[in-house]
Amino acid sequence: MRVRVAVNGYGTIGKRVADAVARQPDLELVGVAKTRPNFEADRALRLGYPLYVSGAGARADFDAAGLRVAGTVEEMLDRADVVVDATPDKVGAENRKLYDAANVRAVFQGGEKASVADVSFNALGNFAAARGQRRVRVVSCNTTGIARAAAVVLPRWGVEHWDVTLVRRAADPAESKKGPINGIVPSLHIPSHHGPDVNTIFPELSISTAAVVVPTTLMHVHVNHVHLRNAPTSAAELVAAFRGTPRFRVFAPWEHADGTPQVMEYGRGRGVGLADVMENVLWEDGVTVHGRDAYFFQAIHQESITVPENIDAIRAMFELAPDAAASIAMTDRALGLSGH
Ligand code: NAD
Repeated sequence: MRVRVAVNGYGTIGKRVADAVARQPDLELVGVAKTRPNFEADRALRLGYPLYVSGAGARADFDAAGLRVAGTVEEMLDRADVVVDATPDKVGAENRKLYDAANVRAVFQGGEKASVADVSFNALGNFAAARGQRRVRVVSCNTTGIARAAAVVLPRWGVEHWDVTLVRRAADPAESKKGPINGIVPSLHIPSHHGPDVNTIFPELSISTAAVVVPTTLMHVHVNHVHLRNAPTSAAELVAAFRGTPRFRVFAPWEHADGTPQVMEYGRGRGVGLADVMENVLWEDGVTVHGRDAYFFQAIHQESITVPENIDAIRAMFELAPDAAASIAMTDRALGLSGH
């Protein structure tokens, strides 16, 4: 029996999660829900996903657009074992009542407060904590990126303190109402919300985060300085650890992926998801070690990095895989990610 998955909210994250669910051998996509008709609703139908009306959405609007609707969000939930909520920030918390009434389990996204769920989740970081849970929150794109890196560094060398400067993209490519379009805007509160959010996965990790927003839509970039407990022999040891871990893509110097434009061009040429790069992206030449201090840059494709984590969260909740490694391998194979 495959676990039946519904997706409520079919935007940037929701459509990618729906596509990812549809590719997994142990999951079945029962449908997606949208509040209003648009080209994305049409896309769902063309892909054969049953389309439901959610929130304040009026069925008449879908009928007028000629889009075939399978029912209401409540009817979709009746057919599901779990719902992935991919609605805008804070709407997920409002939807909890709906999910409780339907007696379905729920996966929330990082735009919600941690209190929306029983546990915050990252597959490499704390897979076991989500085992058997009814409500799980997949942490945000930036937190996912840092948590994955911490899952590599912590067990090997230990961490005295981790400092991250986050250079954040201003908007997603399809967003036209966000900025800045010319300027750099610092988030003045230190730590930025990302540090405490990483602590929902690694409570003991000493971490400080600071963020600035810059006019780009492609990716975020993190500048990391980690003061380690034990010194690695060389930067090559760190590079090998990242390269040997799923969901990391370390560019070698000869690849000439100098920055986020080339990284996304690599994604466009590879054909994973919607020209996505779901891995943490590192540059081999950008990994530096001085004694117990390690430095590295990583790029995070905000639109897609949390997609595989949503799949692993469901596997953990329904105990479909013995451990993180097995779930990650299954997810990544189905998605066509590197490393498997
Ligand atoms: P989005 O705006 O692209 O998509 C949200 C979709 O939900 C839209 O299609 C919207 O019409 C629909 N919607 C609105 N109200 C609804 C309701 N009541 N019921 C059903 N659908 C509703 O947003 P997104 O970027 O996909 O973000 C979704 C969640 O994922 C947020 O929590 C966000 O913080 C998180 N997230 C976003 C990113 C990112 O960079 N875009 C990265 C990681 C996590």
